[in-house]
Amino acid sequence: MNYSEIAKPKTKEMQVAPNLLGEGDLTSKTPWPEIERELGVDGRDSFNLAQLAIDRHCENGWGDKVALLWEGKDGGEEAYTFEQLRTLTNKFAHALAGLGVQKGDRVFIFAGRVPELYVSVFGTLKLGAIIGPLFSAFGPDPVRDRLLDSGAEVLITTPDLKARLSTILKDLPQLRHTILIEREVKAAELDQGDVRYEQAMAAAPSDPPDTTTSREDYSIMHYTSGTTGKPKGAVHVHNAAIQHYATGKWALDLHPDDIYWCTADPGWVTGTSYGMSAPWLNGVTQLIYESGFGASAWYSAIQKHRVTVWYTAPTAIRMLMKAGDEITQKYNLSSLRHICSVGEPLNPEAVLWGHRVFHQAIHDNWWQTETGAILIANYPFMAVRPGSMGKPIPGTTPGIIDEAGNEMPHDAEGDLAVRPGWPSMFRAYWNNEALYRSRFNNGWYITGDRARKDKDGYFWFVGRTDDVINTAGHLVGPFEVESAFMEHPAVAEAGVIGKPDPLAMEVVKAFVALKGNYEPTDNLRRELMRFIRSRLSAAVAPREIEFLPSLPKTRSGKIMRRLLKAKELGLPLGDTSTLEED
Ligand code: AMP
Repeated sequence: MNYSEIAKPKTKEMQVAPNLLGEGDLTSKTPWPEIERELGVDGRDSFNLAQLAIDRHCENGWGDKVALLWEGKDGGEEAYTFEQLRTLTNKFAHALAGLGVQKGDRVFIFAGRVPELYVSVFGTLKLGAIIGPLFSAFGPDPVRDRLLDSGAEVLITTPDLKARLSTILKDLPQLRHTILIEREVKAAELDQGDVRYEQAMAAAPSDPPDTTTSREDYSIMHYTSGTTGKPKGAVHVHNAAIQHYATGKWALDLHPDDIYWCTADPGWVTGTSYGMSAPWLNGVTQLIYESGFGASAWYSAIQKHRVTVWYTAPTAIRMLMKAGDEITQKYNLSSLRHICSVGEPLNPEAVLWGHRVFHQAIHDNWWQTETGAILIANYPFMAVRPGSMGKPIPGTTPGIIDEAGNEMPHDAEGDLAVRPGWPSMFRAYWNNEALYRSRFNNGWYITGDRARKDKDGYFWFVGRTDDVINTAGHLVGPFEVESAFMEHPAVAEAGVIGKPDPLAMEVVKAFVALKGNYEPTDNLRRELMRFIRSRLSAAVAPREIEFLPSLPKTRSGKIMRRLLKAKELGLPLGDTSTLEED
């Protein structure tokens, strides 16, 4: 095969020697004992992710180092040292305990990127409760589904986001308390069970909470979408800290002097594993940039804060490409030392564009909610093959397998699978043991992705095996969107697919059949768009709605999304033999 490569950099000439120096460093089968020694957890069954990420640095003399550098929407800045975070997270743990929260209880957070969010997440972990971060752009329905399924007892949010949930809070009998972060809206009206964040913190002691967590205690849960049913809660354990730390060091190449910026929203797994855990486990200062995307604003943030390591996503990179090369020249981006990307396929053009404007490769890597941490990566020392996800993380064994679980020859397409046992592997789908078990087969964890591996060991993404849509790096379960459509009185049937898109990789497209007394007008289309947006989120709402007299169905009455997709893509009509009746 003819690969165009971005040549291997001469490590001797690099400003900072990378943490992994060559192929030899990738082949260690047992890197974990040394990593555990570095983290100080070797031989210990009990440790706590939050203590490792924050308190450990205070004990090792880094208490005064800035951990969190926050730039707010209005340009205001705040800085928090590891020592300040230690005190604040201790206090938050006590505040939760004061509300009756115990180890193993579910505490969810629905907030933007404000410092209180980071304090809440790590404070919850210190108490041994399970934190469930929610995407702040969600509408009420996804929040209700997740709080109900997890049986969350506490929700941390802001008054304006709470107002967005006004229609669903009454449906959550298990939710006992809402903690309100009043950074923007002060003195909000309190309902029964509401608590003000500042008041609870002021009253709480600052000594460490009296809780012990073991490696295998649950820590974080993230809901992730599948083809059928509502999203499932993938549950992680404190032990994941080991791989967060190791991959932060190996794939993100974090060094103590770095200023690191992860652009992912804290409601998704990249936002917690790499927007919270990995950088702080590595003792690195991380920039938290409250605003969303903006080409000038992002470049300006890199320049202003002298960002050295940047972890972002393909859609964002394609949006930057669209903003043009010229704008990059208006800023001094020379601080950037290492750039990484995750979440969707990073097209070769984007890697080459990055090489042209940032003078370095953009390093794609692969992982998913269930894997908890990076499993395949392009490392700073190696030649990058644009379009490839890279090579396995030391000590992990991804493979390309056939249906029987046999490894496939080089360059053959198959299921991307992983040998179980990597430290950050998810340990459950909440309340769904059968589904969890179904993801393992013949000694492999089956990821749901198709891929191939070339003769030199580079992995290449091919596609998903299911109907899940990846729009701008967000996985969207078609069932969730279809269910929202079905709640509208005009809708008789709905089928949802991912339609290829040059910027977001895929956008959500819905096919809708109306009830007899409704006309397929533009007004109704707009109303349906608004309806879905307000219930789910603009980020996952359909970009297109097409009315059809009826939708193609299997004999058992299930909508055949694959047929809808084949039609949308203009595949020959006879070419439906591969369409499955799922
Ligand atoms: P999530 O669980 O929401 O983090 O989404 C994980 C899914 O995103 C994976 O199973 C892939 O389908 C996709 N994905 C993640 N990283 C990559 C990548 N580097 N290249 C292609 N697809 C990716």
